[in-house]
Amino acid sequence: MTDHNHHHEEAITLRCNRCGKPISPSEAILTPTGYRCSDCVRQQQKVFDTSQPLDYILGFIIALVLSLLGSWLTSLIGFFTVLLAPAAGVGIAEAVRLVTKRRRSKRLFRLVARGIILGGVPISVFMLINLFFSLRMAAFNPFSLLRLGYQILYLILAVPSANYRLSGNQRL
Ligand SMILES: [Zn+2]
Repeated sequence: MTDHNHHHEEAITLRCNRCGKPISPSEAILTPTGYRCSDCVRQQQKVFDTSQPLDYILGFIIALVLSLLGSWLTSLIGFFTVLLAPAAGVGIAEAVRLVTKRRRSKRLFRLVARGIILGGVPISVFMLINLFFSLRMAAFNPFSLLRLGYQILYLILAVPSANYRLSGNQRL
């Protein structure tokens, strides 16, 4: 773009990998694709924030419903949650991307994460009540603790994998 830094070129080793402008190490911003200047990062942020109001509602509801389904499946498959949960996260992200036509914004990612967590609440609460009663009746069943653990594991794995799929470095 501008080449007012041109005469510094030899002293500067970093270049913005988008516009090619030399940047001093203190100004360089590390992005998933390499170092960029602040102008390019700002410009790209604008391109990335493309969500429309309806996207937030749809994204949240899709995440909520699919996560409830994932949470229910978790209650059935137990240990295999370690495989299901990351796949569920990716599936939720893909469904959101499809419905929102790949429009994106940080706010959408946050809402999707909240939808996934909220979707996991009903069955987690059910498992917690189960555990509580098994303790109260002095008939503690270790499986009731394990089942609650799987629900938590589901959320721990599904939320970051959905977030990564949504916000990761993708071509627009
Ligand atoms: Zn640049």
